[in-house]
Amino acid sequence: MVLNGKCHCGNIAIELEWEGIPTEIPARACGCSFCIKHGGVWTSNPNSRLVVAIRDKSLVSKYAFGSRTALFHVCSRCGGVPLVTSEIANHLYAVVNVNVLENVDQSKLRRSSINFEGEDVESRLERRARNWISSVRIVERDA
Ligand SMILES: [Zn+2]
Repeated sequence: MVLNGKCHCGNIAIELEWEGIPTEIPARACGCSFCIKHGGVWTSNPNSRLVVAIRDKSLVSKYAFGSRTALFHVCSRCGGVPLVTSEIANHLYAVVNVNVLENVDQSKLRRSSINFEGEDVESRLERRARNWISSVRIVERDA
């Protein structure tokens, strides 16, 4: 099935194609300092396919901190943070914020808390390459 979502104003829209009909969708509340402030709860499935449609890319702010290996895509108009990307060996991986998804049965969310503070960069990139969405396409769309 396709999980759809967008930031509040719709500038950043997400289509996440999940294999089959998911019986549960991981929803990981991240304990990093950014996600604590933004309430970031992330999902990914290495076999899913993500299309991100941007209406106005001048209104997408990209924010990185710490090891600067992950890029938070923040809508600078409404403040939504629909996705995070990480480029590893010239390949783009992503996770999606479950809070922006609009057609998800909330009872299917398998909520957990994660905290990767202290993980070294190499393990971090290996983990992302294993678990994050590995098919990511970012396109511009007419408003
Ligand atoms: Zn927005």
